[in-house]
Parts: sequence; C-alpha cells; structure tokens
Amino acid sequence: MSNPYQYQTRHVTRDAERELRLGEGRISGLCSVALGLLSLLAVLAYLYPAYLTTLELRQLYDAKQLQHVLKYGMYFSLGFGVLTFVLNRGAYRHLGSGGIALTAIAFVLGGHQIPVGAVEPVPLSLGVDWLILAFLGSVAIFVSLEKLLPKYQNQPLLRPEWSIDLFYFCFNHLAISAILIFANYHASHFHWAISADFQATVQSIPILVQVIIIILSADFVLYWEHRAYHEIKALWPVHAVHHSVEHMDWLAGSRGHFIQVFSERAMVMIPLYLLGASEQALNIYVAFAALQAVLIHSNTRLPFGPLKYVLVTPQFHHWHHSSEKPAIDTNYSAHTVLFDRLFGTYHMPDQHWPAQYGTTRRLPRGILAQTCYPITAFKKPTD
Ligand SMILES: [Zn+2]
Ligand SMILES: [Zn+2]
Repeated sequence: MSNPYQYQTRHVTRDAERELRLGEGRISGLCSVALGLLSLLAVLAYLYPAYLTTLELRQLYDAKQLQHVLKYGMYFSLGFGVLTFVLNRGAYRHLGSGGIALTAIAFVLGGHQIPVGAVEPVPLSLGVDWLILAFLGSVAIFVSLEKLLPKYQNQPLLRPEWSIDLFYFCFNHLAISAILIFANYHASHFHWAISADFQATVQSIPILVQVIIIILSADFVLYWEHRAYHEIKALWPVHAVHHSVEHMDWLAGSRGHFIQVFSERAMVMIPLYLLGASEQALNIYVAFAALQAVLIHSNTRLPFGPLKYVLVTPQFHHWHHSSEKPAIDTNYSAHTVLFDRLFGTYHMPDQHWPAQYGTTRRLPRGILAQTCYPITAFKKPTD
C-alpha cells in the first residue's frame, strides 16, 4: 500500500496514413470492395446453400427477403466503385475497380435472382451466411458506436494489424458449423447428468430469470476455463494469441487461436445442455453473449453507470488485455463481474483505463506463426 501503482494515460497519436477522410475516394473504394466481396459470397451461398450456409441460422432468416439486401448491396458496391473514380486522382482507383469487378462476377453468377428452394442439409458446412450477417451487423452497430463515442478518437478504423483480426473474424464465423458440431459432441458426454425434472423446473420459471441463470452458469464455466488458460503454463501460449492484440476495437476480440475458439464453445455448451432452458431464453442469451463479446473489446467510452459494477464492460475487459503489472491475470469473467469479485481477481480502478495492451513477451505477428505458437513458445523458453 505504501507505493501505489502509478496509472498512466494512454496516448494515441494521429496517423495520417491510416486515417479515412471524406472526399478522397478511399472510403468509397473500401465500401465498394467490401460490398462487392460480400455480394459475391452471398451469391455463392445462394448457389450452394447446403455447403455454404448454416443449418441453425437458416431457420432464423428468410432467404428470399435477404435477396433484397443482396440487390442493394450490389447496387451500392457499383455506386461506391463509380464514386471512387469520380473523387479520386489515382491512388485508390484499384479499390473502385476491384469492387466493380467483384460485383460484376456476382451478377454473372446470377446475382439476386437465384431461385431459393428447400435445402438438403449436409453434415458440415461453411457459415458464409453467418459471416456476412455478422460482419454487416457488427460494422453497423460497433463502427457507429466507435465513431460516436470513441475511447481513443485518434485510433483509426484501419489500425495496425486490422487485417490479421479480420482474418480471425472470417475464420471464426465460417467455422461455426464445425464449432457447433464439436461443442454438441463434447456436451453429449454429460448426458448422464441430465435430469428431466430439473429441466422441466428450469423451463417453468420466467424467461428473464432463465436468462439470468444461463448467464451466471455460463459465466462460471467461462471464468474457470479462462483462468486455466492464464494460470496453467502449458495452456497460456494458446490463449496468448488473443492477448497479442495491441489496439483494442470491435475487431480485436476476434483474434484467438482455433483451439481456444473450439474449446471455449465446447465448455460453455455443458451448462447450456444440462440446464435445458427454453429456446427463447437460450436465443436471448446467445444474442446477449455475442454482442457483449464484441462490445467489451470495442474502442468506446459508452457510459454504463452503475451497470459497470455488475456487467463486464469495455473498461473491465480492456484491463484484462493490459500488460501493466496490477492487471495481469485479472478480470477473467465474460458476462458479469461476480466471479472475479468472488475469487479475488477483480481489477477495476474506477477512473483509469490501461496505457498498454498486449503480452509481456511479444508474440509473432503472422497468422501461421501465431497458430504454431503453442508449440514454438516452448522451443525458445528464454526469449
Ligand atoms: Zn485472457
Ligand atoms: Zn478479450
């Protein structure tokens, strides 16, 4: 207590190279490429729905309705492509022509007029639909939030290593079907613990209370799983990949070794499987968990009021990503702060935010090198 930690303020300096400014053609070029790529992926998903869409998600949306979204996505891609040429004197024209070319291929393959029919399910598919919807939803919600209420105003959207994290984002969403198969298979080993009476009791209580029970049960499992990744030496290099991000934003949370991504979902599936809560409660939980996971990494100062003493917030999880001494191995919870409070790992200096993010021993920066890191980390232990 005699020498309290001196918290520093994080300074993010402006980087003109990375900044997106209106009127230069870069924003329209990026929008054109993004929408062109998403349109092409969507067209492929309409052509091969059994292999490129997610069984669980297909029940939640109307594929015919989404063709209207695809139509506007293609038109906007073309519009942004043309705008890039109008605005730009040269530097970003390749983005405009790339976007137009991608959309042209999407049109040639059938565009938004591919007939929608019944889908014969296959055991394993790629979640192209999940990737497209999650990307559009995340950009709409979280990029707006980061622009309206940024924590670090000078941090650009295209901050260092954004493309690495975009790769992880794509992988995690495309692999949704494989993740669910693995998680369900894992949870099925706990069949012996299922009680029909207990599940009937759970289903008889009000939906909102069911949601709270799911949140707390999932949080308990996630807390210990997360803590094990930090405190068991052999597991840390797997989780260190998630901690290697040095710029926090909505995309940063996507970075994670595939072993962690699969194991985390497999572990959290156990309480969900045993509780047997109603479908409505489960859907509310899944939506809550998905939004919270992105929000807590976001570059936002969105005020939470007294809720910050109950829920995991960006400030709380940013501290978890800090490489500063008092924050190391703290704030493991995913949903509420309860278990960190209970088990002595809570770190939340009221008005302070971290000055440094990342790991104390820097990880390799490439995706392949990060994937191999759980092995290579032990080859050079003295680095
Ligand atoms: Zn962690
Ligand atoms: Zn995180």
